[in-house]
Amino acid sequence: MKKQELTKHKCGAHVITALDSHRCAIPVTLDPYPLNNQGEAAALQQGRSTYQPRHYGQGKRRAHHIKQNPAETVTVLTTHQCNEPIPHDWIKPQAWKTKPTTTNEVLF
Ligand SMILES: [Zn+2]
Repeated sequence: MKKQELTKHKCGAHVITALDSHRCAIPVTLDPYPLNNQGEAAALQQGRSTYQPRHYGQGKRRAHHIKQNPAETVTVLTTHQCNEPIPHDWIKPQAWKTKPTTTNEVLF
């Protein structure tokens, strides 16, 4: 198994399957949308776990990870639950890269 990959789950949803540790790793299935702070708190209240990218796959976030690196500062994913998509207001807005403008453009 790859350390992580984007696949389609049995319910039809796109998910990320990843190893959760560098030793005795267990595959975890995650929704592929990065959470904001509110989203991580809501996911944990629902009984889901949250994960953060690591060199071996996705590491489970514990209280000290959440305190030191809030979801707004790192990529945080939550466990997938079939037919229970995460609400849009849990998802962190992406920073869109814009093409730099140049002053040397020739306008016609
Ligand atoms: Zn599913």
